[in-house]
Amino acid sequence: MSTYPQIPAPAHTQAESMLSRCFGRETVNYFSSSPLNRLSFLRTEHSFLSAALKHPSARFVLLNSLAPLTKTPSELYLAPYTEVRKLVPEDLFDQSEEETIKNFDSRQTSPLVIFLGMDESRKADSLTWKTYSGTPYFAVDVTPKGSEEQQTNAKDVISALEAKGLSFLQTRVVMSLSANEAAIYAQARALADWNTRNSFCGTCGSPTLSVNSGTKRACPSTDAALAAQGKSPEKPACNTRTTISNLSFPRTDPTIIVAVLSADGKRVLLGRSKRFPPNWYSTLAGFIEPAESIEDAVRREVWEEAGVQLSRVVIHSSQPWPYPANLMIGAVAQVSDPAHEKICLEHDPELEDARWFDVEEVEEALRVGTSPLGAEPGPGYKEGGLRLPPPTAIANQLIKTAVRADYLVPNNARI
Ligand SMILES: [Zn+2]
Repeated sequence: MSTYPQIPAPAHTQAESMLSRCFGRETVNYFSSSPLNRLSFLRTEHSFLSAALKHPSARFVLLNSLAPLTKTPSELYLAPYTEVRKLVPEDLFDQSEEETIKNFDSRQTSPLVIFLGMDESRKADSLTWKTYSGTPYFAVDVTPKGSEEQQTNAKDVISALEAKGLSFLQTRVVMSLSANEAAIYAQARALADWNTRNSFCGTCGSPTLSVNSGTKRACPSTDAALAAQGKSPEKPACNTRTTISNLSFPRTDPTIIVAVLSADGKRVLLGRSKRFPPNWYSTLAGFIEPAESIEDAVRREVWEEAGVQLSRVVIHSSQPWPYPANLMIGAVAQVSDPAHEKICLEHDPELEDARWFDVEEVEEALRVGTSPLGAEPGPGYKEGGLRLPPPTAIANQLIKTAVRADYLVPNNARI
Protein backbone atom coordinates (compact mmCIF):
# COMPACT_ATOMS: atom_id res chain seq x y z
CA MET A 1 0.00 0.00 0.00
CA SER A 2 1.20 3.49 -0.81
CA THR A 3 2.39 5.60 2.09
CA TYR A 4 1.03 8.68 0.34
CA PRO A 5 -2.48 9.99 0.74
CA GLN A 6 -4.84 9.04 -2.04
CA ILE A 7 -5.67 11.32 -4.96
CA PRO A 8 -9.31 12.36 -4.56
CA ALA A 9 -12.09 10.40 -6.18
CA PRO A 10 -13.84 12.85 -8.49
CA ALA A 11 -16.86 14.40 -6.75
CA HIS A 12 -18.53 15.06 -10.10
CA THR A 13 -20.59 12.74 -12.29
CA GLN A 14 -18.32 10.75 -14.57
CA ALA A 15 -20.13 9.64 -17.65
CA GLU A 16 -19.42 9.58 -21.33
CA SER A 17 -20.17 12.83 -23.10
CA MET A 18 -19.01 14.68 -26.20
CA LEU A 19 -16.47 16.57 -24.09
CA SER A 20 -15.11 13.47 -22.38
CA ARG A 21 -14.66 11.77 -25.78
CA CYS A 22 -12.67 14.77 -27.03
CA PHE A 23 -10.68 15.75 -23.93
CA GLY A 24 -10.61 12.57 -21.85
CA ARG A 25 -11.07 12.09 -18.15
CA GLU A 26 -10.83 15.11 -15.87
CA THR A 27 -7.75 15.17 -13.62
CA VAL A 28 -8.64 15.74 -9.98
CA ASN A 29 -5.89 17.09 -7.74
CA TYR A 30 -5.24 16.83 -4.00
CA PHE A 31 -7.01 19.57 -1.96
CA SER A 32 -9.83 19.67 -4.56
CA SER A 33 -13.02 17.65 -5.02
CA SER A 34 -14.40 18.24 -1.53
CA PRO A 35 -17.09 15.83 -0.30
CA LEU A 36 -19.01 18.84 1.10
CA ASN A 37 -21.77 20.69 -0.70
CA ARG A 38 -20.90 24.29 0.20
CA LEU A 39 -24.51 25.53 -0.11
CA SER A 40 -23.08 29.02 -0.38
CA PHE A 41 -26.56 30.58 -0.71
CA LEU A 42 -27.37 29.51 2.88
CA ARG A 43 -24.47 31.46 4.42
CA THR A 44 -26.67 34.50 5.04
CA GLU A 45 -29.60 32.49 6.39
CA HIS A 46 -29.04 32.72 10.12
CA SER A 47 -32.03 30.52 11.00
CA PHE A 48 -30.34 27.73 9.03
CA LEU A 49 -26.89 28.42 10.52
CA SER A 50 -28.34 28.50 14.02
CA ALA A 51 -30.06 25.13 13.53
CA ALA A 52 -26.93 23.66 11.89
CA LEU A 53 -24.60 24.90 14.65
CA LYS A 54 -26.52 23.17 17.41
CA HIS A 55 -27.51 20.05 15.48
CA PRO A 56 -26.16 16.87 17.13
CA SER A 57 -24.63 15.71 13.84
CA ALA A 58 -22.70 18.99 13.29
CA ARG A 59 -18.93 18.62 13.14
CA PHE A 60 -16.24 21.25 13.76
CA VAL A 61 -12.75 21.43 12.27
CA LEU A 62 -10.59 23.27 14.80
CA LEU A 63 -7.68 25.46 13.76
CA ASN A 64 -5.07 26.87 16.13
CA SER A 65 -2.86 29.37 14.28
CA LEU A 66 -4.06 27.49 11.16
CA ALA A 67 -2.80 24.11 12.42
CA PRO A 68 -5.66 21.55 12.29
CA LEU A 69 -6.70 19.46 15.29
CA THR A 70 -5.94 15.84 14.44
CA LYS A 71 -6.15 12.34 15.86
CA THR A 72 -3.10 11.32 13.84
CA PRO A 73 -1.20 13.16 11.07
CA SER A 74 -3.53 11.48 8.56
CA GLU A 75 -6.87 12.09 10.30
CA LEU A 76 -8.66 15.26 11.38
CA TYR A 77 -10.50 15.33 14.67
CA LEU A 78 -14.07 16.43 14.01
CA ALA A 79 -15.46 17.85 17.23
CA PRO A 80 -19.16 17.85 18.12
CA TYR A 81 -20.71 21.14 19.26
CA THR A 82 -20.52 20.16 22.94
CA GLU A 83 -16.72 20.31 22.75
CA VAL A 84 -16.60 23.87 21.41
CA ARG A 85 -19.64 25.24 23.25
CA LYS A 86 -17.47 27.12 25.74
CA LEU A 87 -15.96 29.21 22.91
CA VAL A 88 -18.81 29.26 20.38
CA PRO A 89 -21.94 30.73 21.98
CA GLU A 90 -25.23 29.01 21.19
CA ASP A 91 -26.81 32.33 20.22
CA LEU A 92 -24.07 33.15 17.66
CA PHE A 93 -26.54 33.18 14.75
CA ASP A 94 -29.69 34.17 16.65
CA GLN A 95 -29.68 37.71 15.24
CA SER A 96 -30.09 38.22 11.51
CA GLU A 97 -27.02 39.28 9.57
CA GLU A 98 -28.50 42.75 9.04
CA GLU A 99 -28.97 43.16 12.80
CA THR A 100 -25.46 41.90 13.49
CA ILE A 101 -24.01 44.55 11.16
CA LYS A 102 -26.30 47.28 12.60
CA ASN A 103 -25.31 46.39 16.19
CA PHE A 104 -21.58 46.27 15.43
CA ASP A 105 -19.39 47.14 18.40
CA SER A 106 -15.65 46.97 17.72
CA ARG A 107 -14.97 46.41 21.46
CA GLN A 108 -16.67 43.03 21.34
CA THR A 109 -14.88 40.07 19.84
CA SER A 110 -16.17 36.66 18.93
CA PRO A 111 -14.42 33.59 17.55
CA LEU A 112 -14.42 33.09 13.79
CA VAL A 113 -16.91 30.39 12.82
CA ILE A 114 -17.01 29.35 9.16
CA PHE A 115 -19.81 27.28 7.63
CA LEU A 116 -18.02 24.87 5.27
CA GLY A 117 -21.02 22.97 3.89
CA MET A 118 -22.91 19.72 4.34
CA ASP A 119 -21.77 16.16 3.82
CA GLU A 120 -24.79 14.79 1.98
CA SER A 121 -23.47 11.23 2.01
CA ARG A 122 -24.24 10.97 5.72
CA LYS A 123 -28.01 11.06 5.96
CA ALA A 124 -28.53 9.07 9.18
CA ASP A 125 -29.59 11.41 12.01
CA SER A 126 -28.51 14.33 9.86
CA LEU A 127 -29.97 17.81 9.50
CA THR A 128 -32.74 18.42 6.97
CA TRP A 129 -33.29 21.99 5.81
CA LYS A 130 -35.73 22.58 2.98
CA THR A 131 -34.62 20.09 0.32
CA TYR A 132 -31.07 19.68 1.66
CA SER A 133 -29.96 17.12 4.19
CA GLY A 134 -26.62 16.01 5.55
CA THR A 135 -24.04 16.61 8.24
CA PRO A 136 -23.19 20.30 8.69
CA TYR A 137 -19.47 21.09 8.82
CA PHE A 138 -18.00 24.20 10.41
CA ALA A 139 -14.48 25.44 11.03
CA VAL A 140 -13.65 27.31 14.23
CA ASP A 141 -10.55 29.39 14.82
CA VAL A 142 -9.57 28.44 18.37
CA THR A 143 -6.38 30.53 18.36
CA PRO A 144 -6.45 32.36 21.71
CA LYS A 145 -7.16 35.96 20.67
CA GLY A 146 -9.76 38.70 21.11
CA SER A 147 -11.15 39.63 24.53
CA GLU A 148 -9.65 38.14 27.71
CA GLU A 149 -12.78 36.03 28.15
CA GLN A 150 -12.54 34.70 24.59
CA GLN A 151 -8.86 33.86 25.07
CA THR A 152 -9.58 31.98 28.31
CA ASN A 153 -12.41 30.05 26.66
CA ALA A 154 -10.21 29.18 23.69
CA LYS A 155 -7.43 27.93 25.97
CA ASP A 156 -9.95 25.83 27.94
CA VAL A 157 -11.31 24.24 24.75
CA ILE A 158 -7.75 23.52 23.56
CA SER A 159 -6.56 21.97 26.81
CA ALA A 160 -9.67 19.77 27.15
CA LEU A 161 -9.08 18.36 23.65
CA GLU A 162 -5.32 17.98 24.08
CA ALA A 163 -6.00 16.10 27.31
CA LYS A 164 -7.80 13.52 25.14
CA GLY A 165 -4.56 12.87 23.27
CA LEU A 166 -5.43 15.04 20.27
CA SER A 167 -2.95 17.51 18.83
CA PHE A 168 -2.71 20.41 16.39
CA LEU A 169 -0.63 19.26 13.43
CA GLN A 170 2.41 21.53 13.32
CA THR A 171 3.82 21.42 9.85
CA ARG A 172 4.34 24.12 7.23
CA VAL A 173 2.33 22.33 4.55
CA VAL A 174 -0.21 19.69 5.60
CA MET A 175 -0.11 16.95 2.94
CA SER A 176 -0.70 13.85 5.08
CA LEU A 177 -4.49 13.92 5.39
CA SER A 178 -6.78 11.68 3.35
CA ALA A 179 -7.97 13.33 0.12
CA ASN A 180 -11.46 14.13 1.43
CA GLU A 181 -10.20 15.66 4.67
CA ALA A 182 -7.45 17.55 2.83
CA ALA A 183 -10.11 19.30 0.72
CA ILE A 184 -12.11 20.22 3.83
CA TYR A 185 -8.98 21.47 5.61
CA ALA A 186 -7.93 23.50 2.54
CA GLN A 187 -11.24 25.38 2.58
CA ALA A 188 -11.08 25.96 6.34
CA ARG A 189 -7.45 27.07 6.30
CA ALA A 190 -7.77 29.44 3.35
CA LEU A 191 -10.79 31.20 4.85
CA ALA A 192 -9.44 31.39 8.41
CA ASP A 193 -6.19 32.85 7.13
CA TRP A 194 -7.97 35.40 4.92
CA ASN A 195 -10.19 36.52 7.83
CA THR A 196 -7.18 36.97 10.10
CA ARG A 197 -5.40 39.12 7.51
CA ASN A 198 -8.47 41.32 6.93
CA SER A 199 -9.56 42.38 10.39
CA PHE A 200 -9.26 46.01 9.24
CA CYS A 201 -10.90 47.58 6.19
CA GLY A 202 -8.50 47.89 3.26
CA THR A 203 -10.12 51.18 2.25
CA CYS A 204 -10.77 53.18 5.45
CA GLY A 205 -8.72 51.28 8.03
CA SER A 206 -11.51 50.70 10.55
CA PRO A 207 -12.24 47.28 12.11
CA THR A 208 -14.27 44.85 9.96
CA LEU A 209 -16.86 42.26 10.90
CA SER A 210 -17.04 38.65 9.69
CA VAL A 211 -20.33 38.00 7.88
CA ASN A 212 -21.75 35.32 5.56
CA SER A 213 -20.56 32.75 8.11
CA GLY A 214 -16.89 33.54 7.62
CA THR A 215 -16.78 34.06 3.86
CA LYS A 216 -17.06 37.85 3.65
CA ARG A 217 -16.12 40.82 5.82
CA ALA A 218 -18.15 43.98 6.18
CA CYS A 219 -17.10 47.51 7.08
CA PRO A 220 -20.18 48.51 9.14
CA SER A 221 -21.40 52.11 8.87
CA THR A 222 -21.77 52.48 12.64
CA ASP A 223 -19.72 51.39 15.64
CA ALA A 224 -21.25 51.32 19.16
CA ALA A 225 -17.73 51.84 20.53
CA LEU A 226 -17.80 55.41 19.16
CA ALA A 227 -21.13 56.12 20.89
CA ALA A 228 -19.62 54.88 24.16
CA GLN A 229 -16.96 57.59 23.81
CA GLY A 230 -19.71 60.22 23.51
CA LYS A 231 -19.19 60.50 19.76
CA SER A 232 -21.61 59.87 16.92
CA PRO A 233 -21.77 56.12 16.16
CA GLU A 234 -21.67 56.95 12.44
CA LYS A 235 -18.28 56.18 10.93
CA PRO A 236 -16.71 58.27 8.16
CA ALA A 237 -17.80 57.35 4.64
CA CYS A 238 -16.08 54.31 3.15
CA ASN A 239 -16.15 53.33 -0.52
CA THR A 240 -16.76 49.67 0.35
CA ARG A 241 -20.14 50.73 1.72
CA THR A 242 -21.58 52.40 -1.35
CA THR A 243 -24.47 51.03 -3.39
CA ILE A 244 -23.70 47.47 -4.43
CA SER A 245 -21.02 46.37 -2.02
CA ASN A 246 -20.35 46.91 1.62
CA LEU A 247 -18.22 43.80 1.70
CA SER A 248 -14.75 42.46 1.19
CA PHE A 249 -14.42 39.03 -0.44
CA PRO A 250 -11.81 36.30 0.08
CA ARG A 251 -8.93 36.23 -2.36
CA THR A 252 -7.80 33.46 -4.65
CA ASP A 253 -4.43 34.16 -6.28
CA PRO A 254 -3.96 32.41 -9.63
CA THR A 255 -0.61 30.76 -10.25
CA ILE A 256 0.55 28.87 -13.32
CA ILE A 257 2.50 25.63 -13.25
CA VAL A 258 3.62 23.91 -16.42
CA ALA A 259 5.18 20.77 -17.84
CA VAL A 260 7.09 21.76 -20.97
CA LEU A 261 7.78 19.40 -23.88
CA SER A 262 10.59 19.77 -26.39
CA ALA A 263 9.80 20.29 -30.08
CA ASP A 264 10.24 16.56 -30.78
CA GLY A 265 8.16 15.60 -27.70
CA LYS A 266 11.00 13.40 -26.37
CA ARG A 267 12.22 15.60 -23.51
CA VAL A 268 10.65 17.49 -20.60
CA LEU A 269 11.91 20.79 -19.15
CA LEU A 270 12.26 20.76 -15.35
CA GLY A 271 13.88 23.17 -12.93
CA ARG A 272 15.08 23.25 -9.35
CA SER A 273 15.31 25.91 -6.67
CA LYS A 274 18.04 26.05 -4.05
CA ARG A 275 15.74 24.80 -1.29
CA PHE A 276 15.10 21.45 -3.05
CA PRO A 277 17.04 18.37 -1.93
CA PRO A 278 19.81 17.10 -4.28
CA ASN A 279 18.63 15.66 -7.62
CA TRP A 280 15.07 16.94 -7.03
CA TYR A 281 13.45 18.76 -9.98
CA SER A 282 9.95 19.98 -10.64
CA THR A 283 7.80 21.88 -13.13
CA LEU A 284 8.19 25.65 -13.53
CA ALA A 285 5.64 27.88 -11.80
CA GLY A 286 4.82 31.51 -11.08
CA PHE A 287 2.11 34.04 -10.34
CA ILE A 288 -0.24 35.33 -13.02
CA GLU A 289 0.12 39.10 -13.25
CA PRO A 290 -2.71 41.63 -13.57
CA ALA A 291 -4.05 41.85 -17.14
CA GLU A 292 -2.36 38.65 -18.27
CA SER A 293 -4.00 35.52 -19.69
CA ILE A 294 -3.10 32.13 -18.24
CA GLU A 295 -1.38 31.17 -21.49
CA ASP A 296 0.63 34.42 -21.60
CA ALA A 297 1.71 33.92 -17.98
CA VAL A 298 2.94 30.40 -18.79
CA ARG A 299 5.01 31.65 -21.74
CA ARG A 300 6.40 34.60 -19.77
CA GLU A 301 7.40 32.56 -16.70
CA VAL A 302 9.12 29.84 -18.73
CA TRP A 303 11.06 32.42 -20.75
CA GLU A 304 12.00 34.50 -17.68
CA GLU A 305 13.11 31.53 -15.58
CA ALA A 306 14.61 29.25 -18.22
CA GLY A 307 14.96 31.29 -21.44
CA VAL A 308 12.85 28.75 -23.34
CA GLN A 309 10.30 30.08 -25.84
CA LEU A 310 6.98 28.26 -25.89
CA SER A 311 4.38 28.02 -28.58
CA ARG A 312 1.11 26.23 -27.77
CA VAL A 313 -0.09 26.10 -24.14
CA VAL A 314 -2.92 23.75 -23.12
CA ILE A 315 -4.64 24.09 -19.76
CA HIS A 316 -4.73 20.70 -18.06
CA SER A 317 -6.18 20.81 -14.53
CA SER A 318 -6.01 22.91 -11.39
CA GLN A 319 -5.21 22.52 -7.70
CA PRO A 320 -6.31 24.68 -4.78
CA TRP A 321 -3.23 25.45 -2.69
CA PRO A 322 -4.25 27.02 0.63
CA TYR A 323 -0.77 28.40 1.49
CA PRO A 324 -2.22 30.93 1.72
CA ALA A 325 -4.68 31.46 -1.13
CA ASN A 326 -3.39 30.11 -4.41
CA LEU A 327 -5.07 28.32 -7.24
CA MET A 328 -2.44 26.43 -9.22
CA ILE A 329 -3.51 26.31 -12.84
CA GLY A 330 -1.70 23.41 -14.47
CA ALA A 331 -0.73 23.44 -18.12
CA VAL A 332 1.20 21.39 -20.64
CA ALA A 333 3.12 23.41 -23.22
CA GLN A 334 5.48 22.77 -26.10
CA VAL A 335 8.33 24.40 -27.95
CA SER A 336 7.76 24.49 -31.73
CA ASP A 337 11.35 25.06 -32.89
CA PRO A 338 14.48 23.34 -31.46
CA ALA A 339 16.22 26.73 -31.61
CA HIS A 340 13.82 27.92 -28.89
CA GLU A 341 14.89 25.17 -26.48
CA LYS A 342 18.14 26.83 -25.41
CA ILE A 343 18.20 27.26 -21.65
CA CYS A 344 19.23 30.59 -20.12
CA LEU A 345 19.07 31.18 -16.37
CA GLU A 346 20.29 34.78 -16.58
CA HIS A 347 17.03 36.69 -17.08
CA ASP A 348 15.42 36.01 -13.70
CA PRO A 349 17.86 34.07 -11.52
CA GLU A 350 15.10 32.30 -9.57
CA LEU A 351 16.14 28.76 -10.49
CA GLU A 352 19.39 27.12 -9.49
CA ASP A 353 19.16 24.88 -12.53
CA ALA A 354 16.84 24.01 -15.41
CA ARG A 355 17.39 21.08 -17.70
CA TRP A 356 15.80 18.97 -20.43
CA PHE A 357 15.27 15.38 -19.26
CA ASP A 358 14.65 12.44 -21.58
CA VAL A 359 11.17 11.01 -21.24
CA GLU A 360 12.65 7.60 -20.23
CA GLU A 361 14.54 9.15 -17.31
CA VAL A 362 11.42 10.99 -16.17
CA GLU A 363 9.32 7.80 -16.40
CA GLU A 364 11.88 6.00 -14.24
CA ALA A 365 11.75 8.84 -11.69
CA LEU A 366 7.94 8.68 -11.63
CA ARG A 367 8.24 4.97 -10.76
CA VAL A 368 10.93 5.13 -8.07
CA GLY A 369 11.96 8.72 -7.34
CA THR A 370 8.84 10.49 -6.01
CA SER A 371 8.33 11.59 -2.42
CA PRO A 372 7.09 14.57 -0.45
CA LEU A 373 9.70 17.29 0.10
CA GLY A 374 11.75 16.30 3.14
CA ALA A 375 10.95 12.57 2.82
CA GLU A 376 13.11 9.83 1.33
CA PRO A 377 12.28 8.26 -2.06
CA GLY A 378 11.08 4.65 -2.27
CA PRO A 379 13.25 1.49 -2.11
CA GLY A 380 13.79 1.26 -5.90
CA TYR A 381 15.51 4.64 -6.06
CA LYS A 382 19.20 4.63 -7.04
CA GLU A 383 21.38 7.36 -5.56
CA GLY A 384 21.98 10.17 -8.04
CA GLY A 385 18.79 9.48 -10.00
CA LEU A 386 16.18 12.13 -10.75
CA ARG A 387 13.73 12.86 -7.94
CA LEU A 388 10.23 14.31 -8.45
CA PRO A 389 7.26 15.60 -6.37
CA PRO A 390 4.63 13.12 -5.12
CA PRO A 391 1.22 12.46 -6.76
CA THR A 392 -0.47 14.85 -4.32
CA ALA A 393 1.32 17.71 -6.12
CA ILE A 394 -0.16 18.89 -9.41
CA ALA A 395 3.44 18.99 -10.74
CA ASN A 396 3.49 15.20 -10.64
CA GLN A 397 0.20 14.95 -12.57
CA LEU A 398 1.46 17.36 -15.23
CA ILE A 399 4.77 15.55 -15.66
CA LYS A 400 2.90 12.24 -16.00
CA THR A 401 0.61 13.74 -18.62
CA ALA A 402 3.54 15.15 -20.57
CA VAL A 403 5.64 11.96 -20.68
CA ARG A 404 2.70 9.65 -21.34
CA ALA A 405 1.35 11.99 -24.03
CA ASP A 406 -2.02 11.94 -22.26
CA TYR A 407 -2.81 15.26 -23.87
CA LEU A 408 -3.24 13.38 -27.14
CA VAL A 409 -6.56 11.83 -26.24
CA PRO A 410 -7.20 9.07 -28.74
CA ASN A 411 -10.74 8.95 -30.00
CA ASN A 412 -11.46 5.81 -28.00
CA ALA A 413 -14.31 7.12 -25.86
CA ARG A 414 -12.37 6.90 -22.61
CA ILE A 415 -14.09 8.95 -19.95
ZN1 LIG B 1 -14.09 50.79 5.38
